[in-house]
Amino acid sequence: MHKKEAYIALGSNMGNRAANLQLALDMMEASPHIGVKARSSMYLTQPWGKVNQADFLNQVTWIETDLRPRELLENLQEIEIKMGRQSFEKWGPRIIDLDIILYGNEIIKETDLIIPHPYAQQRLFVLIPLQEINPEIIFSDSGMSIREVLIRVLGREEKQIIKRID
Ligand code: ADP
Ligand code: MG
Repeated sequence: MHKKEAYIALGSNMGNRAANLQLALDMMEASPHIGVKARSSMYLTQPWGKVNQADFLNQVTWIETDLRPRELLENLQEIEIKMGRQSFEKWGPRIIDLDIILYGNEIIKETDLIIPHPYAQQRLFVLIPLQEINPEIIFSDSGMSIREVLIRVLGREEKQIIKRID
């Protein structure tokens, strides 16, 4: 099996958020095509975009997989649906959201699949857990290290409130 490394961002702001993240991780691990190498702490985050909704619990996981990027996306969408995700409203409340942040060094720009994830380099709730599990990450599109990206985002006016849950 030819394995690639990838990073998946998990988010939930409905029901038992911690249990939802755990279940999604369990379902990923149950796949013969996905191995979970590491997982970050969970982070409590104010919602992005649509702000009149419950806080999110976010986490990032480092996986290895023999699935191609599109197959991996389909696998993750299947998990979202199995978990009962119904709200497909952009940035709206959801039981579970699974986004591919990085897939090896690949750069993909298709209408329904963009890797590295377009917002990853602006969102502290992705960057901080990513750095926690692998501080050596380089973004293949910008060529920037996770540390450089974090310094840039933290230097901005508007910061999200994000709290690590231990
Ligand atoms: P968001 O995650 O941006 O809040 P959704 O989860 O509803 O919103 O995603 C909408 C679409 O984003 C999905 O149907 C998927 O095709 C597309 N998409 C594009 N790039 C990615 C990626 N890297 N990971 C996950 N979904 C992606
Ligand atoms: Mg998503």
